[in-house]
Amino acid sequence: MENQTPAAPAPLFAPLFGRVALIGIGLIGSSLARVMRQGGLAGHIAVAARTQKTLDTAKSLGLADSITLDPAAAAKDADLVVICAPMSAYAAIAKAIAPALKPGAIVSDVGSVKSIVARDVGPHLPPGVHLVPGHPIAGTEHSGPEAGFAELFQGRWCILTPPAGTEWTAVERVADLWRRAGSTIEIMDAAHHDRVLAITSHLPHLIAYTIVDTAAQLERDVQGEVIKFSASGFRDFTRIAASDPVMWRDVFLTNRDAVLDILQRFNEDLTALQRAIRNGDGKMLEETFTRTRAIRKSVIDAKQA
Ligand code: NAP
Repeated sequence: MENQTPAAPAPLFAPLFGRVALIGIGLIGSSLARVMRQGGLAGHIAVAARTQKTLDTAKSLGLADSITLDPAAAAKDADLVVICAPMSAYAAIAKAIAPALKPGAIVSDVGSVKSIVARDVGPHLPPGVHLVPGHPIAGTEHSGPEAGFAELFQGRWCILTPPAGTEWTAVERVADLWRRAGSTIEIMDAAHHDRVLAITSHLPHLIAYTIVDTAAQLERDVQGEVIKFSASGFRDFTRIAASDPVMWRDVFLTNRDAVLDILQRFNEDLTALQRAIRNGDGKMLEETFTRTRAIRKSVIDAKQA
């Protein structure tokens, strides 16, 4: 059963979507809810989560018109369903919402790995429902509905990976939502997305988790000096390594092949640098560091710093 709250004042213009269901309302879901609230983009925001505590918080923040522990109740009659939950829950969520979806509804998501959506969500959807997977390339190391903010997606990319044959109007409607959130849209094949993100996001997180864990184990030997002198580089890794453990467990389990492939290349390059250090090959080190410095400049020029 849905728990209804009083309706928000009627917007001046017709909203982009009549009823939107958010399945999960943590950092990403609540940021999207804030965007929709600010822009009057949804006539009704129905929110489902795993715990009543999260639903109550979402309601008290004014992010939900109705709340429910039942994803199917939220998805019923929705024009757009956005799954904003951990990817390990996708199959169960898709199975639960499928019978409630109306013909013409759009199902999207915000997950960090995209091949899994066609695998875990697609097969459960009834005919006439459009699947438009999405991934906003934006985030922080914080979680939960209070961590979200409407500006999170501004100036960022949002990658959409519609399966071949998806109706273009459905893709355009999802793209329109993200454009209004301030994002720029890129359409891509899901497998390509997963390969690109393995190097730009997944490997850096794995390296950060490793360095911080190695340092934590060394901490005993060097008696607190790791934390004391953390500003020398370690600090930046600790921010990344504070990212949500459940989300990142899911990323590595769902994007296993692409991550293992990129990790193999990384290990080879690391071994080459190790050899250069052992052999006193300053030329090789300097050339590598000069190349990487230029990459930093390109990131700044692309306004992604
Ligand atoms: P989060 O802050 O931890 O929130 C997760 C939400 O999902 C919570 O509301 C949680 O409800 C709900 N949930 C968990 N299991 C559920 C289930 N079985 N059914 C329904 N709801 C469930 O996570 P997030 O950072 O927003 O991440 C959500 C998704 O966004 C992930 O798939 C992630 O890959 C993707 N993403 C994250 C980032 C990032 O930087 N964080 C960036 C881009 C994409 P309870 O609180 O009640 O458990």
